[in-house]
Amino acid sequence: MNNNVLVINCGSSSLKFAVMSTPDNTVLVEGIGDRLGIDGSTISFKFEGKKETISLSEGSHHEAVTEIKNWLDQRVDIRDAIVGIGHRVVHGGETFSSSAVIDEDVIKGIEDCAHFAPLHNPAHIKGIREAQNLFTGLPQVAVFDTAFHQTLELDQYLYAIPMEMYRNHHFRKYGFHGTSYRFISQELAQLEPESTKQGIIVAHLGNGASTCAIQNGKATDTSMGMTPLDGLMMGTRSGSVDPSLVSFISHAENISGDDAINLLNKKSGLLGISEISSDCRTLEDAAFAGDERATLALDMFASRAAKNLASVATTLDSLDHLVFTGGIGENSNYLRGKICESLRTLNITIDADKNDNAPRGDVSVISEEDANVKVWILPTNEELMIAMDTISLIQQAH
Ligand code: ADP
Repeated sequence: MNNNVLVINCGSSSLKFAVMSTPDNTVLVEGIGDRLGIDGSTISFKFEGKKETISLSEGSHHEAVTEIKNWLDQRVDIRDAIVGIGHRVVHGGETFSSSAVIDEDVIKGIEDCAHFAPLHNPAHIKGIREAQNLFTGLPQVAVFDTAFHQTLELDQYLYAIPMEMYRNHHFRKYGFHGTSYRFISQELAQLEPESTKQGIIVAHLGNGASTCAIQNGKATDTSMGMTPLDGLMMGTRSGSVDPSLVSFISHAENISGDDAINLLNKKSGLLGISEISSDCRTLEDAAFAGDERATLALDMFASRAAKNLASVATTLDSLDHLVFTGGIGENSNYLRGKICESLRTLNITIDADKNDNAPRGDVSVISEEDANVKVWILPTNEELMIAMDTISLIQQAH
């Protein structure tokens, strides 16, 4: 019999959900509650190729989860096979190095990390509470974006600031996209069992973008830091800059430090440089039509991604695989090509035809037959990873 898992990714103004079916690993229904807490909130359901959108009168998280329950009550075949609920949680701090069955202690742990992710963690707790009330008795599991990076060594995760900042406040690198990196590392282990004893660098390139180095199946370094602003240039995020820039921007523009950080989070990156869009596809269209700022933004993105991949590779014993994933990593042959061109001194070369003609949404190898470093495109699936963790933890608990 199939076991279904309801996967919930609850943000402050949105709630994404999916019912995943295992072991066939398919999405039965998925959707998003949008503009929660703002005017015009809706919830959509994508089922059997059709999308239905319902207006929410109240627009609360409670109403969104209630609508999901009402929808499932109409489709008891899907509902009755649900064995648990898996929640994506952005920040698990130093408390969580793996996924956890949710109880009051786990909720307290998520609360304790909320100062590092003030927009996300409180929203996750809201989603967990609503699901507990509306799906009484179903076990729930929290899956943390930070957990996979808890294997980083002290010398990699500490910032070179007074130790008391770490001792007193836990200021350190945490890293994100961990659920995606764990999925990729497990996928690669299936495709190439040797990879569990080898060195891998992964570029997860989407609206948010980061890199990760993995040796013997464990994360050894990653580009994001205490928050997801660090590291690569992203859709609207600057990535790493000289930290004193925050103070310079704040004085020059007469804004607070928090507003300066907001500028680095929301108005920078591909959007800030191109002054056109944060979306890679839109920028590629503009660049191919001759827009120089779009080309500059894309080339800066590629150069920074390559530099960071080289940097995280310094924590590996050997470099055997490079994996591209995420919306940009999986789909942009232009950026993959540019990034690999900048990594030629690491012996990374790709076959241009394979790169240009890689099938969408599928696994491919784009390096040459006898390449030292195998270059892969591997579609990530964080929802599936959350569903698999949920099932495995529920089974362990019984
Ligand atoms: P998120 O971080 O929000 O999960 P995604 O992983 O979905 O983001 O990636 C979104 C990015 O992927 C966008 O910049 C989008 O333009 C880019 N993208 C998606 N498809 C293509 C494509 N065919 N060519 C180039 N970029 C693409």
